[in-house]
Amino acid sequence: MPVHRNCENINLPLDLAEYLCPTCTSEKAARKPAARAWNLIEAAIAAGDQGSQQLLEEATRLNQLSISHLRPSLYSLIPRNMTTAFLPAFADRAGRVPLREKSRQSARRRLGQVLMMSMKNDLPPGSIGRIGEALSLYLHARPSVPLEDFAYPASIREDNGPITSRNHDMYTLSYDEAGEPEKFPVQIKLHGGSSGYDIPVISLGKVLKPLTDTGYPLTRLVRLAANEAAGNYDSRQETVLDIAGLCLLQAEQQWDKVENDPGGKLYMPVSPQ
Ligand SMILES: [Zn+2]
Repeated sequence: MPVHRNCENINLPLDLAEYLCPTCTSEKAARKPAARAWNLIEAAIAAGDQGSQQLLEEATRLNQLSISHLRPSLYSLIPRNMTTAFLPAFADRAGRVPLREKSRQSARRRLGQVLMMSMKNDLPPGSIGRIGEALSLYLHARPSVPLEDFAYPASIREDNGPITSRNHDMYTLSYDEAGEPEKFPVQIKLHGGSSGYDIPVISLGKVLKPLTDTGYPLTRLVRLAANEAAGNYDSRQETVLDIAGLCLLQAEQQWDKVENDPGGKLYMPVSPQ
């Protein structure tokens, strides 16, 4: 008999998959293969080394199926390819081992392909936000960034949960004294402020302004990142992407947990934004 602890959290955005109930998470209803793939990824991370490999194999198969299925729009292709990019990193978490360098490299390379794909196509309305997310994840996965700043894309549960003020696009992990993982959630906006959220919100337009003001708009940064991921070295490109990454990390450090918050989930800007 499985012990159903924290089962009520399987739809809430802020819990890490590590703390979900593996049984309830894997049995969660999902109509489409891409959604089912996410349930299985989270169930694998929740399960740890007990059966996670089989769950991840099935998640990989379903995610691939959803990519090859019925000409999905570019809008759907971006997040599904982002899921693919992070499967090795999720496997590390399911195996309870530190992120391996090759998992990071795999994420970076495939995120570069996602960015490249987005440049070659006419983007449907709404996709530009997805590209901002892919670029943000890319900037966290570059070799010059410490491994502890590696960022993960949010699952459907984390991105689209019932408590909208806590939904987020990506997160980094830290570990407490007992070695248990904790999440730092980030909502990525192209423009706009943080009202309506009680978690960190990053406005790329604001954060990357030093670059966009000097001739590097978002589209150009996307092109540089895709070019770098494809292995084309250029020292100016590297410098610009280093600066973009630093701007992003610095903006994230401007947020801190609210003291005396009983749930330990709320954040506030350290300095007014
Ligand atoms: Zn349960």
